[in-house]
Amino acid sequence: MSYSPLLLRLIEGLRCMPGIGQKSAQRIAFHLLERDREGADRLSTALAEAVNGIGHCRRCRMFTEHELCSICEAGGRDATQLCVVESPADVMAIEDATGYRGMYFVLMGHLSPLDGIGPDELGIASLDEWLRAGEVQELIIATNPTVEGDATAHFLADVASRHSVQASRIAHGVPLGGELEYVDGGTLSHAFFGRRVVD
Ligand code: ZN
Repeated sequence: MSYSPLLLRLIEGLRCMPGIGQKSAQRIAFHLLERDREGADRLSTALAEAVNGIGHCRRCRMFTEHELCSICEAGGRDATQLCVVESPADVMAIEDATGYRGMYFVLMGHLSPLDGIGPDELGIASLDEWLRAGEVQELIIATNPTVEGDATAHFLADVASRHSVQASRIAHGVPLGGELEYVDGGTLSHAFFGRRVVD
């Protein structure tokens, strides 16, 4: 049996979400139509408003519907520290888990020449300008511990050194409370070679 045209469009629309395949899309569509039309209405309004209203912070590229995001806008943050991350989710994670009070720069990805993602796509010109202003003393590189994240980290360290700004990279390794035998080999190797002197 085939879907009606509107149902087909809804199911195909839902499939643009990460991790949602044909089966899940059908389940969500049937659920919304059968049990929660009010929720579906709220979702559609929120989606339309978010897509039309949310852009990027002029300074750090975080998602916001204003010119500046709440962190760039807030007073009292330490403007001498700038932490570079790959995604807005990384900002949320660092804000939630650490007492970091500096600023952020969100690349919205990582260097990936094969996908056509270079310095322009990552907004490096804005970062360059930020560092040139002279306020930042430490660039904290928090890209992911992947091949692309490593390449991006090296590139960012070069950018920092051009402006005589100290660059540091967050350590990646064994989860706190974890046991070595259950840590995957890549993580353990990264942790091992990223070891620092105990003082
Ligand atoms: Zn911002």
